[in-house]
Amino acid sequence: MDKKRRNFLIGTSAVAASASIVGYKKTLKQAVTMSTDGEKAKDPIYGNSYKPEYSYVNDQFVPNDDFKICPTTCIGCVTQCGVRVKIDKKTDKVLRVFGNPYNLLSSDPWLPYNTSIKESYEILSQNGKFEKYRSNVCARGNAVFDKIDDKFRVLKPLKRVGKRGENKWKEIEIEQLIDEIVNGGNLFGEGHVKGLKDVRDIKTPINPDEPVFGPKSNGLCFIGTTHEGRFKVVVNRFLKSFGTCNWAGHGATCGLSMRAGEAAYLGNFKKYPHLKPDFENTEYLLSIGTPPGQAGNPFKRQGKLLARARSEGNIDYTIVSPMQGNSDMISAGSRSHWIPIKPGTDLAFVMGVLQIIINNKMYNKKYLSMPSAKAMKALNDVSWTNAAHLIIQDKDGFGKILKDGKIPLVLDATDNTLKSSNDVIQAVLDFKGSVEYKGKTYSVRTSFNELKENVNELSLQEYSKECGVSIETMQEVAKKLVTHGRKASVDCHGGTMHTTGFYTAYAVMLLGAMVGSLNYKGGMSAGGGAYKDFIGKKYNLFAYKGKPNIKATRIDRARMSYEKTNEYKNKLAKGENPYPAKGNWFPFTSQLSHHILNNSAEGYPYKLDVLITNSSDFLYGTSGSESKMKELLADPKKSIPLFIAVDPFINDTSKYADYIVPDSVLYETWGIVHVWNGYLTKCNTLRFPVVKPKQATFKNGEPIEMISFMIALGKKLKLPGFGEKAIKGNDGNWYPLNKAEDIYLRAFENIAMDGTPVPDATDEDIKLSGIEDYVPSLKRICGKNWRKTAYVMARGGRYEDVEDSYKGEFLAHQYKKPVQIYNETVGTTRNSLTGERYSGTIKFFKQRQVGGKTYDEIYPKDKYPLTAFSFKSNVLATPDANSNNLAEIRFTTYIDLNPKTAKEFGLNLGDLVEVASEYGKVKGYLRYRNGVMPGCIGVEHGLGRDASGAENIVINGKTIKAIIRRKSGVDINKIGLLDPTAGMQTASDFVCGSNARHAIPVKIKKVKGV
Ligand code: SF4
Repeated sequence: MDKKRRNFLIGTSAVAASASIVGYKKTLKQAVTMSTDGEKAKDPIYGNSYKPEYSYVNDQFVPNDDFKICPTTCIGCVTQCGVRVKIDKKTDKVLRVFGNPYNLLSSDPWLPYNTSIKESYEILSQNGKFEKYRSNVCARGNAVFDKIDDKFRVLKPLKRVGKRGENKWKEIEIEQLIDEIVNGGNLFGEGHVKGLKDVRDIKTPINPDEPVFGPKSNGLCFIGTTHEGRFKVVVNRFLKSFGTCNWAGHGATCGLSMRAGEAAYLGNFKKYPHLKPDFENTEYLLSIGTPPGQAGNPFKRQGKLLARARSEGNIDYTIVSPMQGNSDMISAGSRSHWIPIKPGTDLAFVMGVLQIIINNKMYNKKYLSMPSAKAMKALNDVSWTNAAHLIIQDKDGFGKILKDGKIPLVLDATDNTLKSSNDVIQAVLDFKGSVEYKGKTYSVRTSFNELKENVNELSLQEYSKECGVSIETMQEVAKKLVTHGRKASVDCHGGTMHTTGFYTAYAVMLLGAMVGSLNYKGGMSAGGGAYKDFIGKKYNLFAYKGKPNIKATRIDRARMSYEKTNEYKNKLAKGENPYPAKGNWFPFTSQLSHHILNNSAEGYPYKLDVLITNSSDFLYGTSGSESKMKELLADPKKSIPLFIAVDPFINDTSKYADYIVPDSVLYETWGIVHVWNGYLTKCNTLRFPVVKPKQATFKNGEPIEMISFMIALGKKLKLPGFGEKAIKGNDGNWYPLNKAEDIYLRAFENIAMDGTPVPDATDEDIKLSGIEDYVPSLKRICGKNWRKTAYVMARGGRYEDVEDSYKGEFLAHQYKKPVQIYNETVGTTRNSLTGERYSGTIKFFKQRQVGGKTYDEIYPKDKYPLTAFSFKSNVLATPDANSNNLAEIRFTTYIDLNPKTAKEFGLNLGDLVEVASEYGKVKGYLRYRNGVMPGCIGVEHGLGRDASGAENIVINGKTIKAIIRRKSGVDINKIGLLDPTAGMQTASDFVCGSNARHAIPVKIKKVKGV
């Protein structure tokens, strides 16, 4: 191909899509001829498949010594399933990935934990048992291991030689990199850059006018990705030791609205718990915007459980979404129903359903009237709510719950008198009026009364008009929910990532409260928990001598209320209206990665000095990052003076870094992960390197990766908790922290010893699980417990048995705190920009800016006639851009429209179209999809990259050519909105600040080109 033409093609993602047939052609040819690149296959039936891992000779189990089969964790997506990988011993290459039959994320039921490794193989090849314990990975999990050998992998430390974002680098030694980032200097010929040693000042305030913001050491910020097994270690051993409170993961751009809404419902903004259906036994599942099998976490497990419940159980299932996902299909017959809905209007739908349930008294009154744990026990129930608690309505104390000390007061339903909730079995549920307490009259209402009034703010007709779902359909859903009662469940997730997502998620959960299915078999579960790992019987691995106790304010203004600042107090003292604040504050939000660049650029609350990221691609993941965040990151003077990315690849974010530190990939890494949710029994999944990391090493032979980099930095900075005498055992002895195994093997030992310790691993277990190389380290670090630790490693983790899931009709692991029909924290908080008091229970809002104007007013239909949304892929995932195998399964993504809508706009299948919002444009090919709500545009998320091999990279003056297909597809985040009423941050939920990626008003037109 002509070189100029080729470069032009690489420049357009739409054109890359048109090349898709080239990719498929090759696969097609190979499939037809059973060949590899023209070579005839070895076997006409089995093609070029690898030899089996083991076989039976004369009924004897004989492992194939050419391979090792090791347990590990797949991190192809955030589910983090326990898997086994087949490795060629000669080449140290991963050949195949399959499920770990002990791990509940890959098998259901899973093997009893005391099954020997040999038996585990035998069972998987025996008729009758194989079907039961079959363990698998998804299409993505079996494809992405080729990332390990991707030509764009960073193997040596890099320093930029061009401007930020130009993707021009030179290789340097890791010692030079550490020296430069610690000491600072004129590192790029652009002026002095502050090094980490100067940033680490844990005494001087970062802003003398606001001591509550903490010391200068908060000038360091860390952004990771998901909790993939190393995040907690970096936070607790390095960031806390450094003295910063600034760290964030990917949650604010993933599912924060759901997490915040459910944290409000569950009354726990500290730990942010959330609920999932007991998929196996639920009789009715109402899923809002998160079709199992298409999306959600745990992706593979919930898809499998739902499929089984549909084919063998008696589930009835409804998905409410602008797009028909994989969970609704003809083969499910009448058990599955899709309710199309306008994007961003789920709140109207749920308010309508709640109104029907409440006004027709279809709710579980006995459940909602239990005002305390004592009442719950007396009535042999397993959860309770604050529906009957009394909320003060007087100016003094407005929004607070009326209490005697810490105990809420309620009206006893038997005699209508005010009593301690601990002394009442059934309280008055629906009350608004005044009560006398200790000689004072209080105007009060019950939580339930406020809920009832709020769901009746609009009529059913109005709710129906808002969301495009008929009243009859809402009535049908309400009836199904209450009919199945304790065996009904509700679910939502990323579909709530819009400007009113917090109240949407809270409302969805309140449907569950109407039937009281929390902690019931077939109802809702907060998860099964985990064995103690980093803080356990043998060690507290997060405690160390000299750990600073820093109290500070986060750069994203999360977990902090504006009312604690001197800015607020000074305005009050001067008699001024304290609102608006200079920016928005989020007192009950956990973290907001997409606000960090803007806040630092504004110096409010303060300016950052250094950003370290680890496999984070927050620019690609943030809706609306295109318009402002990229510009802020590209200029070191604007927001981040020094940016270090610890990353195995150069992605859309790390291409703006000043330095890139190589990282391990997939099965080369250490980690301990817990199941996110959607499980009922304890589970810890482990990861330790089972193939040799490919990247450069430190002088001590440790591969350069996040943990070894952290240790090296900690030592160079002389931080507490690194080097000799860094880890204190519960036996009082001190141990060193010089390598990743020093911390992880001890955490594995904690897991092994938790509760009743696990048995010892046999030599056969160790050999058949491929962990023989770890025996010397196990003996050195775990001493007499080394075989117990090996027992856990050989099984890839520790798991409670499936039989421990239930106690009769209840879940074995139950959520203990009361359900909040009204959340006092929310009800006593104001928006710091508008001064608007948040509603403590759900309330209807249209899509809006923080300032209050609705999208209907700002983006009228005559200008933006369509609404765009993204949907999660069942194949693509954010971290997998560097997998060529995956491109063979999903080459590109499209702009999906219902054919009716396409026709209205004069568009046809295959047209190149441009979709534009107020803040951005994207091009792509139009695809007809009957399963998209008319009037909407859907885009599968995961492609349309500007890095990760989608553009040329220059290292040491040599160009690594881009791969055309890496550019392919549509990135809908490029049309994300900004919010001028919130300091031009990316559009966010107006309560919890989560990134709003759905319900974007857009226009569409056909464009010329290829
Ligand atoms: S769902 Fe698939 S890609 Fe995700 S962790 Fe599990 S096997 Fe890997």
